[in-house]
Amino acid sequence: MKCILCGKKGTINLQQGPLCGDCFTRYFQKKVYSTIRKYSLFTRNDKLCVACSGGKDSLAILYLINKIAKRQHQPVFALGVDEGVPGYREKQLADMQHFCEKHGIDYVIVSFKEGYGHTIEELMEIARKKKLDISQCTMCGILRRKMLNAEARKFGATKMVVGHNLDDEAETAMMNMFKGSIELMGRLGPVTGAIKHKSFIPRIKPLYFCSNEETALFTKMMGIKVIYRPCPHRKESFRDYVDRSITRIDNDYPGTKTTIIQNMLKLIPLIRKGFSSGKIQECSQCGEPSKGGICKSCDMLNKLGIKSF
Ligand code: SF4
Ligand code: ZN
Ligand code: ZN
Repeated sequence: MKCILCGKKGTINLQQGPLCGDCFTRYFQKKVYSTIRKYSLFTRNDKLCVACSGGKDSLAILYLINKIAKRQHQPVFALGVDEGVPGYREKQLADMQHFCEKHGIDYVIVSFKEGYGHTIEELMEIARKKKLDISQCTMCGILRRKMLNAEARKFGATKMVVGHNLDDEAETAMMNMFKGSIELMGRLGPVTGAIKHKSFIPRIKPLYFCSNEETALFTKMMGIKVIYRPCPHRKESFRDYVDRSITRIDNDYPGTKTTIIQNMLKLIPLIRKGFSSGKIQECSQCGEPSKGGICKSCDMLNKLGIKSF
């Protein structure tokens, strides 16, 4: 098995053929850099905030973004959110902390407990007592997005880098399709669309065309220590169900996820045109960007009887 690029011994078998370790890391970085250039994800003047869970995707992209930022003397920092899932997030965030200290990257860690007064588990306990019909991942996602945006803005970020990869994006596209949320599909793409507001930090996805497998390999090749620790609640989510389903299809029909993404990229401009995003205002309670008078997060916290920040 020879590397299709240099003829040396190929150790990595990609869909397009075997690659040696050196050619693979070059190929991966080139793919990320060309996504940044092609979609003008950021400029030298941006202050970059890397939303960091401490998992493989966020550490891989933090590594590459820090490399670019250092070269360009550009400010960058990592932002982690501790939702308070015991035995899970604190370990991931310890990996992030260790990584940032090793590479001299500034970082901030915030938590639901500080921001909302309760961990996600405590909030779910209240929701159960109040008989509110909401899944843990829905609540966690809404509160995390709000906290990331508010904290990134507080530290002066102008772009938020997220570690969403090709598999994540294919998953989200299909979830929206199955749930009939076509309008939400217009927000997908390498740069989050639809929400344009001075308080909203645009989210960018440099790993858009990199698969789970490629990102995991890249972290391994670069010696980035990550331990795969799935959140114990992941199995309960619709996202996980969709992930397992499309991964099965992709295994039987390789390239399915890439096809989903390629078709999405053709559809996104049409969806954005077809669904006007409506005027984005500021939430009357917390001031964060919101489509209605009150943002989703405040609305949910109100139902729980909890004061929002
Ligand atoms: Fe939160 Fe669900 Fe993700 Fe766990 S899997 S961190 S509960 S969104
Ligand atoms: Zn090679
Ligand atoms: Zn609000």
